[in-house]
Amino acid sequence: MNMTYLSGSGWADRPTTLEPAADGNLSCEIAVLGGGLGGMAAALRLAELGHDVILVEADVCGWGASARNAGYVTGTVGSDPRILSRFYPDRAAGLFRFARNAVTHTEKLIASQDIDCGYRQTGVFSAAPTAAGFRRVRATTKSGKRSTVATADQAGIPPAFHGGVHVHVGGILNPGEFALGVRDLVRASTIRVFEQTPVQHVADTGDSVEIAVPGGRIRAERAILTTNAFTNQLEIAPRRLSTPVWVTAVETEPVPPEMLDDAGWTSRVPIVTTHLLMQSFRTTDRNTIVFSTRKLQMSRHPKADRLPDRAVVDDLVRGFRERFPTLGDISPRRAWGGWIGMTPANLAVAGQATPRVAYSMACNGHGLPQAPYLATLLADHLAGEAMHDDLRTVWRESPRFAPGVVNPATIRLGWLADRLTDRLGRLRR
Ligand SMILES: Cc1cc2nc3c(=O)[nH]c(=O)nc-3n(C[C@H](O)[C@H](O)[C@H](O)COP(=O)(O)OP(=O)(O)OC[C@H]3O[C@@H](n4cnc5c(N)ncnc54)[C@H](O)[C@@H]3O)c2cc1C
Repeated sequence: MNMTYLSGSGWADRPTTLEPAADGNLSCEIAVLGGGLGGMAAALRLAELGHDVILVEADVCGWGASARNAGYVTGTVGSDPRILSRFYPDRAAGLFRFARNAVTHTEKLIASQDIDCGYRQTGVFSAAPTAAGFRRVRATTKSGKRSTVATADQAGIPPAFHGGVHVHVGGILNPGEFALGVRDLVRASTIRVFEQTPVQHVADTGDSVEIAVPGGRIRAERAILTTNAFTNQLEIAPRRLSTPVWVTAVETEPVPPEMLDDAGWTSRVPIVTTHLLMQSFRTTDRNTIVFSTRKLQMSRHPKADRLPDRAVVDDLVRGFRERFPTLGDISPRRAWGGWIGMTPANLAVAGQATPRVAYSMACNGHGLPQAPYLATLLADHLAGEAMHDDLRTVWRESPRFAPGVVNPATIRLGWLADRLTDRLGRLRR
């Protein structure tokens, strides 16, 4: 395979003009730590409301998971909606509303700021990987205003996906262009931005927040942690708030449109499977296909410039070949990956780590719309506005968390169970 392994994003070029690193002793009203979509959105809202803001980013704003994801602006939540509805019916309604509002917020941001990121309001097709899985979907799901149950043929997706639910909320974009577009807004604002500045230590002294960085120290009245998968490296963060998980994405060479039609993907709707560890498949404006997830990896000490593992890339390619057998001549060309932070309940969460240090975490693979939305709500709250219902839904009073379900053993078991499902599906076809 003639494959390029990238340590950054495959969606856009890494910016060459960087903001300076923090140097000496600085002070501000609110310091935002971590410049992904979450941190940039919080800083932008605070600056818009007239606050004196410093944004500190270890590398380049937006260049983490925010620029590397699969680009699904999805209106779903990170945990299984059926389990949420069954066991937490009151909270579930709030979480579903939060997820939909996050999509609307992102769509408005793109439109109002004219961010050129190829956003297409396609919705997302949630596909059952087996015929039996689709029968279950049909028995338990009704079509409605926001979603349609459809066979693969009706949905215009390849037959190997059987069928599923087309959720008519959200769509897809180029996440590199989107994240760097938001970075442009940050750079054009009144925010003092420091890139290449890894925060080393954060202390709430009771009077202020003291932030240690390699070039000096920042004193802030308050701070927000938006460091996603890297949050557990800061002692001040609630223990177990974030479990770092590495997700890999692969892009093919350009695929002629007639080959996509022959493969049965006539609608080009972006697809996610209902596997335990889902797989995603989408087309791009460069006429390529990007597929992602399926096999996850973990590390307590995430390295920002990590390269994808060959074995994981090979496994992803196997998944692609199984679902798109007529595209056997299409070669995968590039692979990259990024760190996401899994929260204990796989849901967005925000709260106070200490009285002066707040945090927001909205990853769990759904953070493209949710991280900026949640961080914006948190910024409004810090600025003195009444707590928005969506923020209240995910707000955590206590900074204590029980261990989450994501660990190397459950990831491995999930992957094995998914492959067993695939095998049984093939035998019964
Ligand atoms: C391959 C892949 C596919 C995905 N697909 C999707 C998808 O299709 N849809 C979706 O909704 N989500 C998806 N996600 C998840 C989504 O990308 C994230 O949820 C979202 O980008 C999170 O944004 P964030 O701002 O919280 O985090 P990040 O973008 O990770 O930003 C955190 C920032 O904090 C900085 N930082 C960390 N530690 C420090 C420190 N000590 N000092 C200073 N700065 C620090 C980092 O450098 C980074 O820039 C995917 C993720 C990956 C990796």
